[in-house]
Amino acid sequence: MIDTHIHADARSGEDFRDMYLSGIDTAITCSFYPYKIEDELVLRNHLNRILEYDTSRAGEYGIDLKVALGIHPTNALENPERIFEQLYTWIENKQIVAIGEIGLEDLTDCEIDVFKKQLDIADETDSKVIIHTPRKNKKEVLDVILDIVPEHLDEKQAVIDHVNRDIIGDVIDKNYMLGLTVQPQKLDVSETIAILDEYGFDNFLLNSDMSNKPSDPLSIPKTIRELKRLGYKDSQIAKVSHENAQNYFKI
Ligand SMILES: [Zn+2]
Repeated sequence: MIDTHIHADARSGEDFRDMYLSGIDTAITCSFYPYKIEDELVLRNHLNRILEYDTSRAGEYGIDLKVALGIHPTNALENPERIFEQLYTWIENKQIVAIGEIGLEDLTDCEIDVFKKQLDIADETDSKVIIHTPRKNKKEVLDVILDIVPEHLDEKQAVIDHVNRDIIGDVIDKNYMLGLTVQPQKLDVSETIAILDEYGFDNFLLNSDMSNKPSDPLSIPKTIRELKRLGYKDSQIAKVSHENAQNYFKI
């Protein structure tokens, strides 16, 4: 199983152990710093920490931790040029599988500039992006995201993450990959399965988004086991368990 969006830096070794024992082999950890960032050096330290420290920490418990790095909208800062330079290097060296998570939160000018620039870097380097949609004003912010992305990047290269019933109608007929987040305050197991049942298994990635907010590190194994118990076909389950993520991120 692959958990396609976590925040490993916010979690313990015990979580990695439980994930591994429950059948998760691989996870993609995304950048997000939960406290204010006053200069670019602090953010770079956060990103390097994920790349160098959390990957080895998760590895000790059996988890193959893949990395997505970028500037989360709540960490958008005024002079991010050195981080953009670093992104090119990480991509060139195949150290990251996507730019993420990026996106918009409060729709400030700074957020929008940083978002567009990261989409341009993805376009230039033929990279994937993982796009966060916020908890508050989700639809309003998504509308802006859906206006901006096609001007900068092929929709096929972007995951729209944290999709729920309220916004699925806006994205289901486009070419995006869609992330379903099984986490308290987002989707529960039965809501996730209801969406898969209605819209099919081809265009979805599952994730726990486990972070320092209330989270369940085992929400993906629980969803996969429940699909099995309910009698869904192995071929359908394999798509959201790991195949879609393997094919999309080439991991
Ligand atoms: Zn996240």
